[in-house]
Amino acid sequence: MLSGGGQAMTGLLAAPRSGDPLPQQVWIPAELDQAFTALWKRSNAPPFHEWGVPIVESEGGMLTIGVVREGDEGDVHFPLEMLAQAGWVGIFHTHPYEDGTTDVAFAPQDIVEIINRRMEISIVQSGNARFLIAQRVSEPKQLVSLTDIESEMYNVVADAMQDRDVTWQQALLTANLSLSVCRRLGLAFYRGTVTLNRLNGGD
Ligand SMILES: [Zn+2]
Repeated sequence: MLSGGGQAMTGLLAAPRSGDPLPQQVWIPAELDQAFTALWKRSNAPPFHEWGVPIVESEGGMLTIGVVREGDEGDVHFPLEMLAQAGWVGIFHTHPYEDGTTDVAFAPQDIVEIINRRMEISIVQSGNARFLIAQRVSEPKQLVSLTDIESEMYNVVADAMQDRDVTWQQALLTANLSLSVCRRLGLAFYRGTVTLNRLNGGD
């Protein structure tokens, strides 16, 4: 079932390639939605390992998935050759927590990998929430260092958590969205379940 409005997720790939602005809303195709849900369920049970899968663009322009990978509690590793396969455009992975914490957006390491591994899109699922980052331009960017991105994001998290009503997840979302991270790195950020809405402007 498609939810109303928005563009197919392939719009996220087509727009920067043709120099167009990215859509404000996109929907996840049914095949990917089912695969992501299944991987989340697998993650959200002992031993609470992250699971991930490459996202691949077929010759016909459809998005599909590659071979699933099991990670550990804090990471899922994709060998470089897996990310060099034809049509590879990015990855999906889960953020499970044994204590039931959900809504956990991208970690600094995830954002570094988007830039340094030149992903066009990356999706994280944590509970029902899905977060998506897409590159706003197709040109390769300068590589970034984990130390820099970590300290930048942790400063935003620490600032945001000065407010006692803000949860750690909300603070992390603020850090994901912060101008200094998203705007400087040219990233568009979306959140939702099947329909994802863009949370930062600035094209
Ligand atoms: Zn992650």
